[in-house]
Amino acid sequence: MSSDKKKNTGKPSILSQWKNRKNKTTSSNAILPRPQDQTALPCSGQQRLWLLQKRYPENSFYQYGHLYQFTGKLDREQLLKSFQFLLDRHEILRTNFIEGEKSLELKINTQTPLDIQHFDLSSLSTKEAEEKAKVISQEICLKGFDLAHDALVRIALLKFSAEKHSLVLSMHHIIGDRSSLLLLNQEWFAHYKASLAALDASSPELKIQYADYAFWKSTQVTNAKDIDYWKNQLAGDLPILALPSDFKRPKKSNFTGNSLSKKLSAGLSQQIRQLAKAHQTTNYVIILSALKVLLYRYTGQKDILVGSPFSTRDKVELEKLIGFFNETLVLRSALSAEMSFHDLIDQVKQTTMDALSHKNMTFEELVKILQPERHENSNPIFQVMFVYNGANNHRYDLEDLQIEEESINLKVSKFDLTLFANEQNEQIELNIEFAQSLFREDTIQRMLQHLEIILDATSQQSNPSLAKIPLLSSEEKQELLINWNNTQQALPPQKAIHHLIEEMARLHPTQIAVTHQNKQLSYADLNQQANAIAAKLLEQNTKANQPLGLYTNRSVELIVGLVGILKSGAAYLPLDPEYPAERIEYMLQDSGAALVLSTSDLKEQLSFTSAKIIDIDAAILEPRKDTLVLPEVQSTDLAYFIYTSGSTGKPKGVPISHGNLLHSTAARFSFYPSNPSCFLLLSSFSFDSSVAGIFWTLCTGGNLLIPPKRIEQDTFVLGEMIAQHQVSHTLLLPSLYQTILQHCPTKLLNSLRNVMVAGEACPPALLQAHFEKMPQTELYNEYGPTEATVWCIAHKITASDQHFVPIGKAIPNASVYILDQQLQAVPVGVAGELLIGGLGLSNGYLNRPELSAEKFITTSLEGKTLRLYKTGDLARFHADGRIEFLGRVDEQVKIRGFRVEPEEISKVILAYPGVQEALVVVQKKEQDGQKQQLRLVAYLLEQETIDLAELRHFLKGQLPDYMIPAAILPLPEFPRLPNGKINRKELPAPDDQAMDN
Ligand code: AMP
Ligand code: MG
Repeated sequence: MSSDKKKNTGKPSILSQWKNRKNKTTSSNAILPRPQDQTALPCSGQQRLWLLQKRYPENSFYQYGHLYQFTGKLDREQLLKSFQFLLDRHEILRTNFIEGEKSLELKINTQTPLDIQHFDLSSLSTKEAEEKAKVISQEICLKGFDLAHDALVRIALLKFSAEKHSLVLSMHHIIGDRSSLLLLNQEWFAHYKASLAALDASSPELKIQYADYAFWKSTQVTNAKDIDYWKNQLAGDLPILALPSDFKRPKKSNFTGNSLSKKLSAGLSQQIRQLAKAHQTTNYVIILSALKVLLYRYTGQKDILVGSPFSTRDKVELEKLIGFFNETLVLRSALSAEMSFHDLIDQVKQTTMDALSHKNMTFEELVKILQPERHENSNPIFQVMFVYNGANNHRYDLEDLQIEEESINLKVSKFDLTLFANEQNEQIELNIEFAQSLFREDTIQRMLQHLEIILDATSQQSNPSLAKIPLLSSEEKQELLINWNNTQQALPPQKAIHHLIEEMARLHPTQIAVTHQNKQLSYADLNQQANAIAAKLLEQNTKANQPLGLYTNRSVELIVGLVGILKSGAAYLPLDPEYPAERIEYMLQDSGAALVLSTSDLKEQLSFTSAKIIDIDAAILEPRKDTLVLPEVQSTDLAYFIYTSGSTGKPKGVPISHGNLLHSTAARFSFYPSNPSCFLLLSSFSFDSSVAGIFWTLCTGGNLLIPPKRIEQDTFVLGEMIAQHQVSHTLLLPSLYQTILQHCPTKLLNSLRNVMVAGEACPPALLQAHFEKMPQTELYNEYGPTEATVWCIAHKITASDQHFVPIGKAIPNASVYILDQQLQAVPVGVAGELLIGGLGLSNGYLNRPELSAEKFITTSLEGKTLRLYKTGDLARFHADGRIEFLGRVDEQVKIRGFRVEPEEISKVILAYPGVQEALVVVQKKEQDGQKQQLRLVAYLLEQETIDLAELRHFLKGQLPDYMIPAAILPLPEFPRLPNGKINRKELPAPDDQAMDN
């Protein structure tokens, strides 16, 4: 039994209160005709509509369009007379809205002639007539209303034949709501019928008119209890629903929309009714609960607000009035992963009942009290609306005339999304009206299907927790999990990567393998010198999987050393001589590397380490026996170790095997249309983006061009180098490519065939420059973490990617999953964490079993057991299977392309004497008006006064340059949230003086 049912207080239910309403209309609060000397004023809801119309005069978003089809004998004259009768009977139908001296006023016209147009289409063919009728009805319904002067209801009568007519009715919402339309239909056709039968056609006299109601409403004082209820209910920060959309939200909404519907089966409709019954509630509550689940699962947000209209027509004397009686309830729910669906139903039921019992407060008042932040492009307080329409008559059978009525889709959307649930006979139909500036049709189709699946799964016997309610159809699962990961491809037969390089040396011995400034090595040279290194290393008894430090500047020796290490059966550990000694020493210690391969010019710089140093230059020159036997390497043996930033305060080592590297390299052979004839290696060999160029080039016989240090700081020199060496391929950060395109004469870049941007999100702004200046060059976006060996997702960029640049699809032998926290696949369009599977996956971090277990997981999807790496990246699928990168789930960032865990820096700062607490955050810095750069800012609490220059010096001794905060700010105390966590929003921004202090 639900908690709600136990809590039954014995209070009269809303339904019984409503049933008793007649008895409760006491004379003291009865609605009476307004005083004659009073100017008639609109009610607050009408004022809101008036303001909206004034703000968006071109929009027909608050208009109704209805189509009536008449089959049979129609007395047109009488039909119009009966309509005139309605105009005479209801003041509101002949009211205008005018700006008076102090406020908006109602101008009630005594006489309004019918605004009617006639069209005779009977001479046209059926098809032509239908098309013409469509055009007419759109015209009539979309034509705006001048609220001050126009008749606010207009009709058009269309004749198709003697027996077939239709009528289009357009009305502004300000004079009538949906139930008014039903009333209008009833009175209209009753009058028509009675008149034709020569019976008394007059309806019972109206005691009051809408303006009397508006006056009465203005005299009502909002109950303090109602105000308190809503203040409390809507306390705290009101979240903006982060519903994933297909298009970027425009700066200003234009309210164009569309609507799509889905009819639930009779069986499911029945299940829903039964579930409602079991919870002593209505279908409304069940479907609203399902909507909340959908929104929760689509956004991950747990505080979900939905608007829902209700009618203020809750007194007997209002029952026969046409007019605007709509009000909006805001229904807020607290959802959680563990909560069961049945508990949610009970919560939503209670919230709805409470809201209804405090409903005597207008939305305008609510907005005034809450003062929510206003945005031009989204609704305040809630962004999604839910409307439930009970069963209604849309057919009127008169003696020899059948009338069928339907609403006309005006292609508008008042909100981001409105879910309508319409009861039709025994079936429930779901209909979503959506903003076309945000959503595509297929997205809404999926949403409707997900709602159906949620309702189906929850209205059966089971009562799943909200996080586990099924969402996806089996077709969707098949596509997301199986079809889009169907990437198997044969690998090269070699077991070790250097065998491919050896093969090139055999096939193309004289071809240039490596170039650095004026030094070049042919494949034969490279192979021979690397053999010499391997021989030297083997003398030291190097073993498989053993890390071997490689401490070299950019040079051909770097490549000789690297290939030599691989040949010796060991794995290389890149050590950038620019790194602080402490960091290098840490990497040597952590990995257990006892040998370091270096060049003679760096010997002195290495004095800090106790590791044994082997000199590449000397080793190459050493006389050697001819019978070198290289060890056999297995594909599971490690090829390299790359250290990457770690949140524990120390970098973490990622070991990569020959198998991983063979896969990563071979995938390039098939993914890309050409192999590099000359590859410009811009990345430092400390990062795995260098691996792409090194092995792709050397395994396919190209020239690996190693530029001097910091070449990227002079793009002209860089361009000259590209031209001189006829560089065909390069891989670089999107920001660097952008700079090159901006500053480098295009004629220098003509040899480039294939440019890959990687490491950071590719901004769409890059595309224009590229396709304008380098249309002949193919541009690719590559994505991948070090843990999955350089790349795993890639995309060939086209000019049509100008709105966002996808990262693409899984590369050969990689698989990609976008999952929620429960490790369930999320639908297309919805954000989740990117998990990677396939042949690129490392075995786990070095010496970090716990972290490895957390990030490298084994899970089962669609019956398949998979080992996956959790990237911490947020992404979503598009309907064509391409992936959009959306950011991070954690704090990790890329600073100038370098992967940084800000916590690593905080931990290092904390180790400095006198620091009590430290926090490093990433801030955006505007540059040249539009380009944004990220920078690190450190905040700290001091135990004693700290000399910041000394602290900075200390950090430089521990961390690479890119991890040194741009500013360090001591604070007297950290701003805190009520839960004690640091309130990041309140951290002061450093001024320019604090930079580099
Ligand atoms: P790293 O291991 O240093 O290569 O960094 C991997 C991380 O860089 C990924 O997890 C992403 O956060 C980011 N990243 C790499 N490539 C891209 C890309 N093409 N677009 C967006 N982010 C990327
Ligand atoms: Mg990388």
